[in-house]
Order: sequence, then C-alpha cells, then structure tokens
Amino acid sequence: MIAWGTRMHVVNLGHTEIHVCSNCRQERRFDLVLVYKRWFLYWLFSFITCRKYRMVCEVCRRGWELRREKVEPYVSEVHIPFMHRYGLASLAVALAALYAMSSLAGR
Ligand SMILES: [Zn+2]
Repeated sequence: MIAWGTRMHVVNLGHTEIHVCSNCRQERRFDLVLVYKRWFLYWLFSFITCRKYRMVCEVCRRGWELRREKVEPYVSEVHIPFMHRYGLASLAVALAALYAMSSLAGR
C-alpha cells in the first residue's frame, strides 16, 4: 500500500504587532506566522505545495495574508524542516544513486 497525502503546518516566526482585530473588535497582539502545505509519501518524503505568510490574532487566529516578497527579505532563516522541503527530492537522489551503483556492480 502506498501512503500519501497532504498536511498543513503553521510556524510562528516570533514577530508580533498590536492591531485592532476586526473579528474580536479589541486591540490584540498579532503574530507573524508561516503557513505551508506539504505533499508527502509515507509521511517522510515530501515537498512544499503552498507557502503563505499571515498576521493572525492571538485570540481568534483570524488575520490577513502578507505578500511573500515583502516578508521573505526580513525573515532571517528558513523555518521549514529539510525533509518537508526536499524529502521527495532526497528519495529520488537516493534511488538514482542506488540504481547507478547497481548498474556499475552489474558490469
Ligand atoms: Zn481576534
């Protein structure tokens, strides 16, 4: 059986601002979060299918989306685990290496 699927992840990037929440109708702390979706094969080998930055209310989690090109210059590090980003590519490289080694061994 082949196990595959998608999963959403939310990473708090540690930047906060105070805004009036249109849903709570009060002044609240808003967190900058990275929301990404990954497609996976056997939960380990995956790649990112969608990446968004959002400011979300600390209470109701509603907010607004930010333009990726405006946020990424200020985000100092990549907050997505390696296997979430390049897991499927790593599997492809490993399989290609195994195939190359078996081809060389067969000569
Ligand atoms: Zn709110």
